[in-house]
Amino acid sequence: MLQLKDIQFSYAQGKALYDINVKLDQGTHVALIGESGCGKSTLLNLIYGLLQEENGRISFNGETLEGADSHLVPGHPMMKYVPQEFDLMPFTTVFENVGEHLSIQLDNRGNRILELLEIVDMSDFKDRKVKTLSGGQKQRVAIAKALAQQPQVLLLDEPFSNIDNFRKNDLRRSLFSYLKKENITCLIATHDKDDMLAFTHETIIMRDGHIIDHRKTIDCYNNPLNIYGASLFNEVNVILPSWFENEKELMCYPEQLHLSNKGIEAVVLNSYFKGSYYLIECMFQEKTLFFNAANTYEAGEKVMLDLVK
Ligand code: ADP
Ligand code: MG
Repeated sequence: MLQLKDIQFSYAQGKALYDINVKLDQGTHVALIGESGCGKSTLLNLIYGLLQEENGRISFNGETLEGADSHLVPGHPMMKYVPQEFDLMPFTTVFENVGEHLSIQLDNRGNRILELLEIVDMSDFKDRKVKTLSGGQKQRVAIAKALAQQPQVLLLDEPFSNIDNFRKNDLRRSLFSYLKKENITCLIATHDKDDMLAFTHETIIMRDGHIIDHRKTIDCYNNPLNIYGASLFNEVNVILPSWFENEKELMCYPEQLHLSNKGIEAVVLNSYFKGSYYLIECMFQEKTLFFNAANTYEAGEKVMLDLVK
């Protein structure tokens, strides 16, 4: 188990993390989400031992992990980190980058590297020098390299940000099934709701250096604590009590409002094509609302909306 207890951290400019308490069971995949600047990268840096916590304790299976002040080479042997700015050896091949920290004497070294290149779909590039690769390709090599020494904990900081959608889906599926097979704990800072919803068991929501929610991902999505939390996943509608005779104000996602012959009459502002549906932006009593529809609507058209029961 990876445990963070009462962690605080400040940069010279000010406090960045407050009262961080987290427990992650081995093999759990966890999304770390929150607006830019809320402290996600700082937290990953601390866990990996690149920074020194002011107080509190980080432990793995009961053993304290010392911070940056206590070791010359950052990091812990059972943990690997792929930061936002990953570092690879530019003049060396993809194959040798992935194997950089794998002993030459290791019997199955070559096969191990090839297996990892397969997972990140970079086998065809194994003999290419890293400096000739695109940003997304480098990102995939950095992930394979992090997995090479069989970590028990993998920390990823927005790992798919440079990777096109076409490859992203494939990469996510093969990476997370590998992590599951090997029972590797993964903490992934991300902005992408597809990363969170389909691939993580739990979600940690951060705001201004605090953890404001940590539950199963499905619960964070279905029962968000506040608008901030909900809006990290999707567009959020705020529903006033008078509209549908609710006792109090409600929050709902676009899929929870539907076209109906009763309810509130909103005026369409825009239709956004989403592939299998349209996201319709409309206005009711000076509030913007979103709902999903099969067709597009013209600006100015009136639509009747009700809550999905
Ligand atoms: P996130 O990854 O969620 O975008 P960060 O952890 O990078 O957020 O940043 C958290 C806060 O700490 C921000 O206010 C940021 O400006 C500040 N910060 C990040 N890195 C440094 C640094 N090296 N020195 C000083 N302040 C920093
Ligand atoms: Mg960051």
